[in-house]
Amino acid sequence: MTETNLTEPNLTEPNWIEIDGSQGEGGGQMVRSSLALSMVTSKPVRIVNIRAGRDKPGLMRQHLTCVQAAAEVSRAKVTGDKLGSTAISFEPKTVVAGEYHFRIGTAGSASLVVQTLLPALMIADSPSVIVVEGGTHNDFAPPFEFLQKTFIPLVNRLGPKIKLILELYGFYPAGGGELRAEIQPVPYLKAFDILERGEFTRRSITACVAGLPIHIAEREVDVIRRGLDWDESEARCESVRAKCPGNYLWIELESKCLTEVITGFGRVQLRAELVAREALKEVRQYIKSEAPVGGHLADQWMLPLAISAWQSRNQGLRGGGVFRTQPLSLHSLTHLQIIERFLEIKATVETLDGGVQEVRIE
Ligand code: ATP
Repeated sequence: MTETNLTEPNLTEPNWIEIDGSQGEGGGQMVRSSLALSMVTSKPVRIVNIRAGRDKPGLMRQHLTCVQAAAEVSRAKVTGDKLGSTAISFEPKTVVAGEYHFRIGTAGSASLVVQTLLPALMIADSPSVIVVEGGTHNDFAPPFEFLQKTFIPLVNRLGPKIKLILELYGFYPAGGGELRAEIQPVPYLKAFDILERGEFTRRSITACVAGLPIHIAEREVDVIRRGLDWDESEARCESVRAKCPGNYLWIELESKCLTEVITGFGRVQLRAELVAREALKEVRQYIKSEAPVGGHLADQWMLPLAISAWQSRNQGLRGGGVFRTQPLSLHSLTHLQIIERFLEIKATVETLDGGVQEVRIE
C-alpha cells in the first residue's frame, strides 16, 4: 500500500465542515458524498440529522459500510459509526491506495460503497483494487450495468482507468453479490463536456431472472421490444445464479458521447408486464428529451466533474465541464449544495429550450 500525502487537517483550526443531513432531500447521498469529499479535500466533517428525510433515519448497513470503508482507506478518526446513528464526525488523515475488501452484510448497495471510495482513489498516487460484497442489483441505487456502462466510462474520460467487474449477482433481500473495482489513478482529472446526444449507435434490452421462470424475462422483453418497435435481435433473456430469487431488466442506449442504461426491477406481486411498462416509459422519455444526461447520471456525474474543476483551480488548466440534462431533481440539487460546500465552487444551472437544463461546473 502507498500513502498519498494530503494536507494534514489542523484540528485546532475551525476548518470542520458541518453538514445538516435533514436539508433538501435528506437522504444517504449526503453522507456518502460528504465522506468522498472529505477524503479528497482532507477537510474533516461533522454530519448531523443523518437521513432525517427518510422513514427510518440514521445510518443503515450500506451507509455504515461506507463510513467504515472511507475511514479505513483514509485512516480517518471517526465517531458515531454505529447502525442507526444520526450524527458522525470524520477526520481523514491520509488516503492509502491498495487492496481492500468490504462486506455490507445485507443486500445494501455495493455500488454505492464503490462510488464513495472512487473519488479519492482515482486521484491517489498508486493503483487500488476494491472488492465489495452486498447487493449488486438494487432498486433505488445504481445497478452494476449502470456503473459499468454509463458512469465508469465517463469517469474514465476524465483520465483514470477504472474497470468494474461483477463477480456475483446480489439481489434484495439476501444480497451475497460481489463487485470488484480496479483503479488506475491520475494526479489530475481532465475537463469533459456532455452537450449533445446525437444519433443512437447501439441499443439493446436485456432481462434476467435468478431462481425464477425465464418466461418472466421473456414477457418483459416482449413488452419493451414491441413498445419501442425494436428488432428481436436487439433483445435477450438470461438466467443467472444468485443467493435469492431476483428479476432485473436493463435497456442500453449508446450515443456519440455516452451510454445510458435504464433499469427495471421485478417485485413480488407486480406483474412482469407492469415492470416492463415502467421502464418503457422511462426509455421513451429519454429518447424524446434532447438532454444526453439522464436524471440518475446527472446526480452522480456532478461529483467527479466538480472534483476536476476544484483540482484545476491552481493548475492553469481547464477542469470540470458542462452537461445538459433533464430538470435536476431535489436529490441532485441537494447533492450540488454539498459539493459546493466542500469544494468552494459555484455551479450554474441554466434552463434552455425544451426544459433541458445546462449545468456548468468549472
Ligand atoms: P436513502 O435510503 O437515504 O434514500 P440511499 O443511500 O439508498 O439513501 P440515495 O440518497 O437516495 O440513496 O441515493 C441513491 C443513489 O442511487 C443516487 O445517486 C441515485 O442517482 C442512484 N440511483 C437510484 N436509482 C438508480 C438507477 N435506477 N440507476 C442508476 N442510479 C440510480
